[in-house]
Amino acid sequence: MTRIDDLPVRDELRGKSPYGAPQLDVPVRLNTNENPYPLPEPLVERIAERVREAARDLNRYPDRDAVQLRTELAKYLTNTGKYPIGVEHVWAANGSNEVIQQLLQTFGGPGRTAIGFEPSYSMHALIARGTGTGWIPGPRNEDFTIDLAAAERAIAEHKPDVVFITTPNNPTGNAVAPDTVLALYEAAQAAKPSMVVVDEAYVEFSHGDSLLPLLEGRPHLVVSRTMSKAFGAAGLRLGYLAADPAVVDAVQLVRLPYHLSAVTQATALAALEHTDTLLKYVEQLKAERDRLVAELRATGYDVIESDANFVQFGRFTDSHEAWQKILDRGVLVRDNGVPGWLRVSAGTPEENDAFLDAVREVKKELE
Ligand code: PMP
Repeated sequence: MTRIDDLPVRDELRGKSPYGAPQLDVPVRLNTNENPYPLPEPLVERIAERVREAARDLNRYPDRDAVQLRTELAKYLTNTGKYPIGVEHVWAANGSNEVIQQLLQTFGGPGRTAIGFEPSYSMHALIARGTGTGWIPGPRNEDFTIDLAAAERAIAEHKPDVVFITTPNNPTGNAVAPDTVLALYEAAQAAKPSMVVVDEAYVEFSHGDSLLPLLEGRPHLVVSRTMSKAFGAAGLRLGYLAADPAVVDAVQLVRLPYHLSAVTQATALAALEHTDTLLKYVEQLKAERDRLVAELRATGYDVIESDANFVQFGRFTDSHEAWQKILDRGVLVRDNGVPGWLRVSAGTPEENDAFLDAVREVKKELE
């Protein structure tokens, strides 16, 4: 049998594992920060309609620049972000993972580096590796906030080409204060200047506002967003960014032609027509997230304050053992490899009840 290492793969890929949150068939899946609510039926109908229209033109390549979709995304950002965004500031791709990949292909790559403050979204490092960008694991405080002085020192020392700031952060759930983002931007400009990518995949769930207004006068700042979480459309694969129009021009140097299929564009446009309904689910999820925080604390767990649709809780002597015990009770949560902690995504009230019952039992068992 041929194994990967028998192939002439790039040295930096040897012995590595692919991204892999387990996709297990259990009654309650709260491990990948998905939105638990299926799309409402009228939206499903509208998607079918728009995809049917798009199908009539599938003999042609799609709009390479996805202008209509980017225009609607820009309107959504303007309406919700307290800052005017035009189509020329927006770029879209297949999930924000692809947005990040395009950014690293454009601003990273061989001989260049990117930094992120860990623990954070593991794909930043993996996409860096895939694009030949050197990865620098930056520091965080014990309580998972960014240690600003240490982060500034790391930026000054390594002079990375790309700085990732995930806010709200995954897996810890906490948001980064705008002042901290501004200070890191300044540090990155002084050191290089580098591009600063603010990953706002979860911002719709935040108690605070989006950092979009910081784009004003900062051409090296990029805000990355997704329809996977707040829009409940992880299966759609639609991510986007807002930045200076020059950034939008720059990523077009690396994007594959026609990367966003006509079916994707049609589906995303249908979903955007239903923004108001979808954002009501976000409100329910925020309330459930707050309930999870309160009830976990009442049960005696440590919980990191969350601005996302998930909660990091602990502490466990052996988080993998705790993960398994919760799974034995039919509930799948996430062990991100942060020692002592696990992460649970906010589900429906019934799913969250099942999770809370499970962790109450596990707490007793582990005592
Ligand atoms: N950024 C963060 C912080 C995430 O947690 C995720 C998804 N888990 C993504 C980006 C990627 O999302 P998508 O590719 O589905 O847009």
